[in-house]
Amino acid sequence: MNTFLLLVVLAVWLIRRALRPAKPVQKSSSLEQQDLVSCARCGVHLPRGEARAAGGQLYCGDEHARLGAGPG
Ligand SMILES: [Zn+2]
Repeated sequence: MNTFLLLVVLAVWLIRRALRPAKPVQKSSSLEQQDLVSCARCGVHLPRGEARAAGGQLYCGDEHARLGAGPG
């Protein structure tokens, strides 16, 4: 009977493995951590929650928001 039990355990394990997604989903609630944006001025990446919005663009800080995108 041991072989039968082993097969059952193996089958259950295989089914559970098949049903489970490949990647473990842990941080589904905090979208801010995943949502990275780049500064329109210097291109640095930062969370959307920390970015400054100005003129339809996103910046890494008040200074770059004031300077705006592009050179100069
Ligand atoms: Zn910047």
